Amino acid sequence: MTFTYAPGWAEPLFVLFLFVLGLCFGSFLNVVIARVPEGLSIVRPGSRCPKCGHVLSWYENIPVLSWLGLRGKCRGCGMPISPRYVLVELLTGLLFLACLKRFDWTYALVPALVLVFLLVPLTFIDLEHWILPFSLTLPGIAAGVLLAIPQGADAVGQAALGAAVGFLSFRLMEYVGWRAFKREALGGGDKFLVALLGAFLGWQSLLGILFFASLQGSIVGVTLLALTGRAGPRGAPEAEAPDEAEEPESTMTWDFTKPGLPLWKRAVLVPWCLLFQPIPDSPLDETGEEEEWVPGPTNIPFGPWLALAGLELMLLGPVIAHVLPPEVAMMLGASR
Ligand SMILES: [Zn+2]
Repeated sequence: MTFTYAPGWAEPLFVLFLFVLGLCFGSFLNVVIARVPEGLSIVRPGSRCPKCGHVLSWYENIPVLSWLGLRGKCRGCGMPISPRYVLVELLTGLLFLACLKRFDWTYALVPALVLVFLLVPLTFIDLEHWILPFSLTLPGIAAGVLLAIPQGADAVGQAALGAAVGFLSFRLMEYVGWRAFKREALGGGDKFLVALLGAFLGWQSLLGILFFASLQGSIVGVTLLALTGRAGPRGAPEAEAPDEAEEPESTMTWDFTKPGLPLWKRAVLVPWCLLFQPIPDSPLDETGEEEEWVPGPTNIPFGPWLALAGLELMLLGPVIAHVLPPEVAMMLGASR
């Protein structure tokens, strides 16, 4: 679908509307970031101060302005409100404008805005909790495929292929990394985020996403490590749910490298293990118990870097394609 709507004289109003829409969505995303990792409803109850429980009235709930008006302090208890709230609102608003700059008033603007709407909370949740919740990634993958429908069967195929290739390649890297280093090398949620990016941006962009994410992540990680002695944020891994305590032997019964297996069983187990064998979060201690995982000084969450790389490829694709040699740009998926 290639219709272009040119708003003419009303253009500045439409642009302003999109920015304000971004601020309001950002305000909602603050709720998502605060509540989804805790497993709380994002609908009820209304917004309240996390420190004293003071319920916010409508005029304390206006994006950016309320924070400025309240000078960043709760009206109930006077405790400072994290500047993250304003940051998320402004970031969402500005990214919405960047999407408009890139795609103009075409249909392509719609999936771009939805992708921003998904990547902002995933980034901030991964930074704080070191998780990428399924409740965001799985509907996100579906949205990426569904939003391709108006662009034709080809686009739907590209989206589905992007999701599948993204998921499988990261699952394989995760599996091989785990077998090689006997510990989780990639966060288990990363493959779902890569699938989401593949669904929205197509399989051609996957190599570029991996490249830019690794490059920028390692540059910033190494710099932070040198300056502060820590690469990633400290994070607060929550207490483990009791039903999650898997007996470690169960993962081992699926091991296709176990000696003495008949050949046919091994042949069936190889693809099964590659795809589905659960990978424990942390190395097992001497008693066979899983240790509670705490981010070490050299750990860095990869999700935010994947999200950043995806946004860069989407929003700056033509610029990247202009700067890099055409063959390299094409390999990185920046030609579109
Ligand atoms: Zn308060």
